[in-house]
Amino acid sequence: EGKIKRLDNSVDKLRIKRKDSDSLKVTENVFDNATLKALYTLSNKGIVQALGGSISTGKEANVFLADGEEEEIAIKIYRISSSSFRSMEDYILGDPRFSNIRHNKRDIVFAWTKKEFRNLMRAKQAGIRVPEPITTERNILIMKFMGENGKPYPLLKDIKIENEDGQMIFETVIDYMHKLYVDANLVHGDLSEYNILIDPEDITPIIIDMGQSVTLEHPRADQFLKRDIENILRYFKRYKVNESPESIYARIKEP
Ligand code: ATP
Ligand code: MN
Repeated sequence: EGKIKRLDNSVDKLRIKRKDSDSLKVTENVFDNATLKALYTLSNKGIVQALGGSISTGKEANVFLADGEEEEIAIKIYRISSSSFRSMEDYILGDPRFSNIRHNKRDIVFAWTKKEFRNLMRAKQAGIRVPEPITTERNILIMKFMGENGKPYPLLKDIKIENEDGQMIFETVIDYMHKLYVDANLVHGDLSEYNILIDPEDITPIIIDMGQSVTLEHPRADQFLKRDIENILRYFKRYKVNESPESIYARIKEP
């Protein structure tokens, strides 16, 4: 009770209006002091104008809708008290971009947040459709909101389409994986129907959730690539895609 009140006061102090009150429970779990401090900074800079409702509560992060400077934004907040930092460490430690970070939970999470920002940036530069990253602050990643009127685009796993459209999406996803590999020198590492949004306007895929994406130097990059390929081929079987993992692997690595 008292704790919620304190949080409420803190959130109020941030002058971030809560547009709806459903997220009180979520608020309590996510908004520790470090996170409040980060939100405060983002609010002062004008990057976050008003906090909206919760979009998703994942294993390691919560995603909220918010008003940004000019447009709707998505706020991904990594929980510092999350349980799977061992595995975060595994992904971070093989990455030369993060070779000198301190090995405590907080710093790992902050580095992880920056890592997702940079991965999204590299993907975007390689011509892949991803939510454009805007900034990071501690454990918070701000990116463009991919959706319409406050409603996020559907995940690939939740849409029903004709085989032909499915095959078109498949081709684009493989093209993205190729660009990601050859131009951005990254492997997504958690690619599946759960991390692909579909823009209903033109049914193009949008790749999300790149915190775990690794550079090609990572000792397990090839293993992650093979797993991504398997996930994608498994899912697209329903749209009568019958390519072999070997041929896709070759296509992705083709210079
Ligand atoms: P974790 O693996 O740490 O639990 P996660 O899977 O919860 O991460 P994401 O996949 O990045 O995190 O996002 C969760 C959900 O939030 C997505 O499935 C999607 O519905 C929504 N989402 C994420 N980013 C955006 C965005 N930029 N615009 C709209 N919706 C988004
Ligand atoms: Mn995800």
